[in-house]
Amino acid sequence: MRLPVMVAILVASLLEATTARAQDTRTTPPISAPISNVAYRVTFDSAGARRRLLHVDMSFVSGGGDQPVILALPAWTPGSYELDYFARAVLRFNAESDGHPLTWDKVDYDTWRVRAQGSKPVTVSFDYLADTLDNAMAWARSDFVMFNGTNLFLYPEGRSFDFPSTVTIRTDPAWRVVTGMTPASTPSTYTASTYHELVDMPFFVGRFDLDSVRAPNGWLRFAAYPSGSMPRATLASTLAQLAKIVPVEGAVFGEIPFSTYTVMQIADSTYGGISGLEHENSHVDVTTPLAIGEPIEMSIYAHEIFHAWNVKRLRPSDLWPYQYAHEQPTTWLWVSEGITDYYADLSEVRAGVIDSAGFFELTAGKMAEVANAPPVALTDASLTTWIHPEDGTADIYYPKGSLAGLMLDILIRDASDDRASLDDVMRALYRECYKHGTGFTAAQWWAAVSAAAGGTSFADFNAKYIDGRDPYPWKTVLPLAGLRATIDTVRTPTLGVSAENDSAGVRVARVAPGSSADEAGVEPGDYLLSVAGVPVTDPSFVNRLRDKVGLRSGTPVSFHLQRGDDTLDVTGKLQVQERVTVRVDADPAATPKAIRIRSGLLHVR
Ligand SMILES: [Zn+2]
Repeated sequence: MRLPVMVAILVASLLEATTARAQDTRTTPPISAPISNVAYRVTFDSAGARRRLLHVDMSFVSGGGDQPVILALPAWTPGSYELDYFARAVLRFNAESDGHPLTWDKVDYDTWRVRAQGSKPVTVSFDYLADTLDNAMAWARSDFVMFNGTNLFLYPEGRSFDFPSTVTIRTDPAWRVVTGMTPASTPSTYTASTYHELVDMPFFVGRFDLDSVRAPNGWLRFAAYPSGSMPRATLASTLAQLAKIVPVEGAVFGEIPFSTYTVMQIADSTYGGISGLEHENSHVDVTTPLAIGEPIEMSIYAHEIFHAWNVKRLRPSDLWPYQYAHEQPTTWLWVSEGITDYYADLSEVRAGVIDSAGFFELTAGKMAEVANAPPVALTDASLTTWIHPEDGTADIYYPKGSLAGLMLDILIRDASDDRASLDDVMRALYRECYKHGTGFTAAQWWAAVSAAAGGTSFADFNAKYIDGRDPYPWKTVLPLAGLRATIDTVRTPTLGVSAENDSAGVRVARVAPGSSADEAGVEPGDYLLSVAGVPVTDPSFVNRLRDKVGLRSGTPVSFHLQRGDDTLDVTGKLQVQERVTVRVDADPAATPKAIRIRSGLLHVR
């Protein structure tokens, strides 16, 4: 996943507002009777759409004599590392056989026990409330729904996930269906060979735009809701750039494992950032309309598409196979997310979508982000993501893991005189682990890194920079790739507000406790009009604010707000924060070897 990037117009101390849910302390549920001939049917028509409801039927043949059928819904969607318990949105659960109701009860939050009594066809059904705009969940409008298989499709508890199934979509004749699932010979029906495949193929149903281009291995499709949200020219240039990025990413692994890849995008003004969620042949983005056509979009696409290899196929053994009933913590998200983000930047520059200066700027931004966050080990940050820690390290394994990837890449290239690289590590593990149906272990990861670097041990590197909190040794590593960093500290007025643009203006999303804004009484949901007389929509807001209020802590600073129908003025005291800034550029004094390595990084081998 690529987590939401706030469209923040103010210097802000971010505060993660998501609350951790109680740990699942259930005992092991009983094993379901075997079931076969599994078919799901999802109905989404204009009548249901008005109430944001999907109707779901699941039919199967129960083969367990008097043993009950025990059916569960996932607690999370892989890639979105949090427990969501999709059973919360299930309404009017029902079970029947030959038109006769069957007795059922709940085993736990998201597990139903159906008394099927004998080997016969059974249908369970329910309505599902699709009202959460989140790419791991389901969201309906009057003419559209996006849903994930994890939200709707029950599986037999304690049985293998390797069962085939079909999905039939019933919808209004004028509405479209898009999914990565394989179409069956029956109209509006799709097939999956396993449950893992079934729930990794989200759907768009309704009215939306759909465009496609030829790609090296088949087609690249782009579905955009609402219609017109991606201007025609933006969509055409996006598809053209994606058609360059996909083969560059495939070159890392030596294959493109999908024939059609679908980008599924929802733009909605109530969403205050941009976020993507990866799947094996598609991804779903939810974005503010303000990000459309901005560089961040292509960066998200490149990240999510790289996940088709890294995490959807090659992934740590902790996540292999996926378990849906409970969380699956791992210390390796710095590889699954961070190194994916490194390759997002690399593939953009290797595909010619950005130039080398653009790549250096992305790298410098990540260095600054890490420098301004508390020191944390990548293994710890990966592990704790499930509880969304509040200490400013919640998402740090993205930029810091990306930088760990850059360091490993440079060190491997230096040790091998640019004959090997991180690409070799990724490709070797893809072949050795994914292609043999397993996840990678720590021993396999570090052996692959060491092999690429001609046998050099990375035990010390791991202890200091992955499992430890040492600052990264940029002064010694960057020159090996002909790069240099200029690191500075600037003093910046800090208000403690993060805000999002929506259709009504600049809305306060979060207020950091103890900040100027908090002291003044600014509240989430307020609309900010100006601060110290500087309109918040001013493109040079931060600079003008600094000119206006100076850099002395304690200076009164006024907030002009809209709260409901009222406008009000409140005052807090200015706080000044020191922030690290970083610039990365090519070192003009680089050695020929370092120049070779720099060029090796930026180009497809
Ligand atoms: Zn990701």
